[in-house]
Amino acid sequence: MATGNAYFDDLRSKPEVIDPPQNDEMLDIGEHVNETSQTSVKPEAIATSSVRELLECPVCLNAMYPPIHQCSNGHTLCSGCKPRVHNRCPTCRHELGNIRCLALEKVAASLELPCKYQNFGCTVIYPYYSKLKHESQCSFRPYNCPYAGSECSVIGDIPFLVSHLKDDHKVDMHNGSSFNHRYVKSNPHEVENATWMLTVFSCYGQYFCLHFEAFQLGMAPVYIAFLRFMGDDNEAKNYSYGLEVGGNGRKAIWQGVPRSIRDGHKKVRDSFDGLIIQRNMALFFSGGDRKELKLRVTGRIWKEQ
Ligand SMILES: [Zn+2]
Ligand SMILES: [Zn+2]
Ligand SMILES: [Zn+2]
Ligand SMILES: [Zn+2]
Repeated sequence: MATGNAYFDDLRSKPEVIDPPQNDEMLDIGEHVNETSQTSVKPEAIATSSVRELLECPVCLNAMYPPIHQCSNGHTLCSGCKPRVHNRCPTCRHELGNIRCLALEKVAASLELPCKYQNFGCTVIYPYYSKLKHESQCSFRPYNCPYAGSECSVIGDIPFLVSHLKDDHKVDMHNGSSFNHRYVKSNPHEVENATWMLTVFSCYGQYFCLHFEAFQLGMAPVYIAFLRFMGDDNEAKNYSYGLEVGGNGRKAIWQGVPRSIRDGHKKVRDSFDGLIIQRNMALFFSGGDRKELKLRVTGRIWKEQ
């Protein structure tokens, strides 16, 4: 019963939970609380982990949320797994029926658990049932790798991703807030959806990703250059950037707000939130015989007051 004791100790440390039981389902818990009332309160961490075990679905191992089901012997099961076990309790093989485990649902409602991104620095403690919503928006949740050239599944915080881009994707890193870049491609007519170039800029103590991509806009082959901020949207809004591309006496200028890398590069590209250059114009800017793409893109990032 070590698990049980730790679990009820946790309840006892939260006085609102041991109010007189409101119904039969709660009665058991009330009795156990009395039994264990002489023991000392165990460290929070132990109690929390055993309660978590109780709320873990034995089939999918995810945390259970209402409705929590149980068999006539009291084994619990999450609502996602219930339709998949063909009315047999996966623990004892008895018929499952349609019994809600209200007691466990109420215990869950009384719990407060740390955000699952605790290891990334989130210190908030949330009631069990609002934890999921917080975690989907937690500002400490890791970012996806912003590299666009391949499906990369690496996630992490910004310093981790910066080293990952440098070491694993061999991305060019630049210090400073202004840049002068040349994109060269010997056969631009081969360019379909398959060209991505990424440069990372470090300035104002932040990191920015400059993307240059070729894609089809309807029937027209175009290039797009845009900036993404390595951080959240609310901070991205503190910055602006400008891009210029030109040649042969013509110039196209774009001014924008960097997008957070929470927005995928495809999403940004498909919303045309950047400097778009028609391929014909790009080749004209490139000069020469229009066989080679030689685009000079200059730009600047600044902080808004
Ligand atoms: Zn499950
Ligand atoms: Zn069972
Ligand atoms: Zn959090
Ligand atoms: Zn990556």
